[in-house]
Amino acid sequence: MMDGDEYRESLHSLKRDVFAFGARIDDVVDHPLTRPHVNAAAMTYDLAHDPRYQDLTTATSHLTGRRINRFTHIHQNPDDLVRKVKMIRLLGRETGSCFQRCVGCDGLNAVYNTTYLIDQKHGAGYHSRLRAYLAYVQDSDVMVDGAMTDTKGNRGLAPSKQADPDLYVHIVERREDGIVVRGAKVHQTGGVNSHEVLVMPTTALGEEDKDYAVSFAVHADTPGLTFIFGRQSNDERKLGGDIDQGNPRFGFVGGEAMIVFDDVFVPWERVFMCGEYEFARPLVEMFSSFHRQNYGACKVGVADVLIGAAALVARYNGVEDASHIRDKLVEMTHLAETLHNCSLACSSEGQMTPSGSCYVDPLLANTVKLNTTRLTYEIARLAHDIAGGLLGTLPSEKDLHHPVVGPYMQKYLRGAAEYPTEDRLRVLRLIENLTGVSALVECMHGAGSPQTQRIAIYRQADLAAKMELAKRLAGIADEPRGPA
Ligand code: SF4
Ligand code: FE
Repeated sequence: MMDGDEYRESLHSLKRDVFAFGARIDDVVDHPLTRPHVNAAAMTYDLAHDPRYQDLTTATSHLTGRRINRFTHIHQNPDDLVRKVKMIRLLGRETGSCFQRCVGCDGLNAVYNTTYLIDQKHGAGYHSRLRAYLAYVQDSDVMVDGAMTDTKGNRGLAPSKQADPDLYVHIVERREDGIVVRGAKVHQTGGVNSHEVLVMPTTALGEEDKDYAVSFAVHADTPGLTFIFGRQSNDERKLGGDIDQGNPRFGFVGGEAMIVFDDVFVPWERVFMCGEYEFARPLVEMFSSFHRQNYGACKVGVADVLIGAAALVARYNGVEDASHIRDKLVEMTHLAETLHNCSLACSSEGQMTPSGSCYVDPLLANTVKLNTTRLTYEIARLAHDIAGGLLGTLPSEKDLHHPVVGPYMQKYLRGAAEYPTEDRLRVLRLIENLTGVSALVECMHGAGSPQTQRIAIYRQADLAAKMELAKRLAGIADEPRGPA
């Protein structure tokens, strides 16, 4: 297993076409825009070496029997799913950010199960390829970007009916030695600092969309790949200074990128689905459920930091003991733990699959994520309420350090006299970082927009059985009786 420094070192030698702010980034480890996200991902490597946490952050490979980082593990039982949730909350607490590596873990688990199902029907040999790929991932401890979301063009049209056929990733050529693919994936968490990209379809597909039913893995430095790094609110603050970033070491959210596949060649040994369109839906549902499981963990870890920050600012403001402040902190804690309960529940209720791995309860996992689209906003609202108006009007750290206006800020922005002004400003900037639009939109749309969770919940709500329950208790006959 790599540690954080070895992970950083491995990225230095990964030469790719990464762009941000209209310029090429030569090294994502050293560039101020991407460095915090690299640091957050590096924590997934460092904590695997920390004896305090290794029961959560490592696992035993079912392929090799060797100790591996849990982010490369195929869940073997519900306990593995529970440990994953606890590991992710721990990392959220340590980084106050998105550490990005879950998408690869969820992609590997979803493709592991789906290749098994495809082979049962078609005997295509995908599952043994995936196992060989997995063994490489586990032994080399590389970071895998699980790439699902296509650009989607007109949302009312199927992939093959789009005005531009490239708006979903698709196969443009089948060759003796592999396939050639074209398209783009968006919102790719950890996209610029992963070693591998594992591509999956993004939606249910029909027969006419066969060429879009494709799953494969490529090295991040494969020719034809281009990475365009996304903007985040206040990202120019990363280009200088420290206090105004709020969380200068780890940034916020996942450093998402758009990845363009411009006629990329993929050898057959790295192709895991090629035209089996009927398996696109189960693959998407499985990946989504695994990723939605995480939201009552990473967002709760971040909420732990936010609750701490809100309590600190109340102390610096001199109102720590006010009853309404305590009520709000209790409410924030109650909401965060409610989310965590849901993640633990969908994990404890995990079921074994035909491939021999363990799958979360999908109804409960979708419930976690839908709750995250609301409760995190309420937690943020309460933090804003406690923090006060200075959260929105605070001058820059450059003013704090300016010889003329700095002393005014030091004098007039002090809260309770026993705490330095700078500490008060630092914690306000942290709250701003944790509750900014990029962080909240991630809670809304990460792992799928809320409507996708509603559709999944409707499919699994089993309304027919629930109507039967109601009929039985109300004394309503089973068959329609016609007019009396
Ligand atoms: Fe992991 Fe959460 Fe980031 Fe998704 S948003 S990759 S679950 S930390
Ligand atoms: Fe996410």
